This record gives sequence, C-alpha cells and structure tokens, in this order.
Amino acid sequence: MKSLFKIYVIPCLFVFSFSLSAMEVKVLLASFKDGECVLSAQKGFVLQDPVSRNGLQQEDGRKKFALECRQDGVYLDGKRLFKEKIIFKPYGDSCSYDGNKYWGYFLIKKVEDKYLLINVVPLEEYVLSVLKTESLPGWPLEINKVFAIITRTYCLHHIMLSYQKKLPYHIRNSNHHQTYQGIHNCSISKQAVDETKGLFVSYKGMPILAMFDCCCGGIIPADIEGSIDFKKAPYLGRTYACTYCKNAQPFHWSVSYSIDDFISLIQEEASFIVRGIKNIEVIDEDNAGLVKKILITTPTEELMLSADQIYRLSSKIRSYAYTIAKKGKKIVFKGKGFGHHIGLCQWGAREMVRRGFTYKQILSFYYPGTDLMRFVDGTERYNKKGGICQDIKGILSEVQLRSLA
Ligand SMILES: [Zn+2]
Repeated sequence: MKSLFKIYVIPCLFVFSFSLSAMEVKVLLASFKDGECVLSAQKGFVLQDPVSRNGLQQEDGRKKFALECRQDGVYLDGKRLFKEKIIFKPYGDSCSYDGNKYWGYFLIKKVEDKYLLINVVPLEEYVLSVLKTESLPGWPLEINKVFAIITRTYCLHHIMLSYQKKLPYHIRNSNHHQTYQGIHNCSISKQAVDETKGLFVSYKGMPILAMFDCCCGGIIPADIEGSIDFKKAPYLGRTYACTYCKNAQPFHWSVSYSIDDFISLIQEEASFIVRGIKNIEVIDEDNAGLVKKILITTPTEELMLSADQIYRLSSKIRSYAYTIAKKGKKIVFKGKGFGHHIGLCQWGAREMVRRGFTYKQILSFYYPGTDLMRFVDGTERYNKKGGICQDIKGILSEVQLRSLA
C-alpha cells in the first residue's frame, strides 16, 4: 500500500481510516492483440518494472515509442522489450497516446492474450479530465461541483468493484463508464474539482453507484421495473418526481421515420424479411410509464421488440418513455427525457442551481438516504479490522448492482 486515507462523514464526526493502494485510478485506454501502440512524452520516459520500480532501459532520450504488440511480447525496433508488463513514466507531468495528453503514467500489462494500455492517474486529475466531457460547457460553478462529486463517486464505486472482480484496471475510458480524454484547460472545472476535493456520495459508508442521465423526463425511478434492485441500492429508488427539468429543451422529443427507413432500422432485429408495416404499438410498459415491449405487425408476420432493442436502433430514440404510432406513411415516436431515467437528472440539477439550491441539497434530492463524505490524504492509520479493503469487499459482495451505463 503506497498511501493511506481517512474518511469522515459530513456533518457527522464518524471517522475511520482506510488504505487503498494509492488513490490512483487505473483507466483502461485500449487493448491490443497485435498491432502498433504509439506512446510519446515531451521529455521522454523512464521505463520501469511495475513491481520493483527499477528502471529497465538505459536512457536514450527517446520521446516517442512505436511499440509492436505480438503474441510473445512487445517489440521495439524489432527487439523484444518485455513480455508481461512495463511502466512508461514520463519525465514531465504528462504523456500522450492517440492524440490525447494524460496526467500520470502508462502501464502496459498482458492479460490472457491481450496487452492492456492503462493510464494510471491521480484521482483528482482523473475527475478533472472527465468533467470536460461529462459536464456541460458554460454551466455555472455550483453545477460543476455536483458533476465533480458524482464523477468522483462513480469512479470510487468502480475502484471497489474492480477489487471484487479482480480486474486489472478500475474503469474504462469510454461512455461504457465515463468518457475520459485526458488533460484540458477548463478553469471552471478545475475550480469545481478543487473546491470539492475528496468529496463523494456515500450509502452505508461506501461510495454509491452514482448514475445520472441528461434529463429524467419526470419519471419516478422507484416505479421502474427490472433494471435495478432498489432494495440493494435504495438511493437510486427515488419515490418522488423531479419536476425541475420540465421546461428544459431535452424534456420532450419526437422523431419520425418513413416506413422504408424504419424497416431498414429494424430489419436486422427480425428473423424474416420485413415487407411492410401494418401496425405498431406498445404492448407492455411498467408502472413508471417506461416502454418494455413493442409489437410490429407486418403483412406476413409479427415482430416483438424489447425497449432495449428499440433504444439501440438509433440515437434519435432518446429514452424509454414514449408513445409510438403509424401515421400515414410515417412511424412517429413522441417521448420524454434523455437517457435511462435513473439517478441525477442533469437538466433538473441545472435548474435547481438556478433556483439557489446548493450542491449538497441537489445530491440529497437525487440520491435519497445518502451522506456526503470526504477522504483526504492522511497519516498512516489502520482500522481495527486491518484495513478497509477487507470491509469494502465484504460490503460489495452484498451489493450486486447492474449498471445501465
Ligand atoms: Zn429531471
């Protein structure tokens, strides 16, 4: 363990300490079965063994490494550089891959038959990087503080999950988790991260699965069936509606397709050739009003599609709350919300800020029953059970959540 942290609940004085192996985030950037991986740094790299941290190569001032991944190792200039794992640590404060610049350093590690490229970055720098793509430009400081806290919380939750699943990384760099593209210079994001340093949303002392969407459409999450076990994650089961987003632009959406365009969208979901559409209707929805199943009647056969299948057809279908109808030669969707309707509603939170709510009030509204906690770099202290890592694993074994992200 490289560093230790202590946690305390705000405003309670409940204090305990824990150790995670340095509060660094391991972000998976890419994986290679074979092919080229190019890393660069303005002042060059020192190459280290990840375990001993001993330098592996004499300095030659090289600033760019064009690595060739093969099944028996990673090669540089036709010679095998390493077989299993290596660290590329920049002499400066950043390093680059695929057009993006990152804080921290790179770790390349072989897992089964692939080489994983992982950026190891301090947590706060990770949060700052993510805010560039996961917050909305031009929004005020207070809403950026909300996003900073939920970004940090989401990351900490995945760090814990990775311990449980024994993953070689903590979090992916794509919107599968949180979009991460490295360093940027947005000053309001920096201020938001600095002013919320270490803060995260917790339930029973642990970072929550801080889900959020763009606009909830006024759907009550507690009434949504099937995707989340609200007994295990009650903080996602809000029993009251968010009404703050109702005048926001994404609240209402509609999209219409010509019959031919719609057929080409759904064709690959069908096991027969779709030659026309006689009728289309929602045949199942849950108590929250979210669509579960759609029945499409064609001249020859019927086709049943799940809401997830429909959602994946096109980015123009923005949520799970909609009506669908055949009107003349068009298929028309009319919907509410943008996203999966669970967790924090970004446009609702934006309106709450406009009305004077603080980030604490907003987080409490969207994640009921949670506390705000903070970890800070601390002195070396262990709790009586020998470290929180064991506690984290124990708690996680009871929290089997299915992320919609
Ligand atoms: Zn909302």
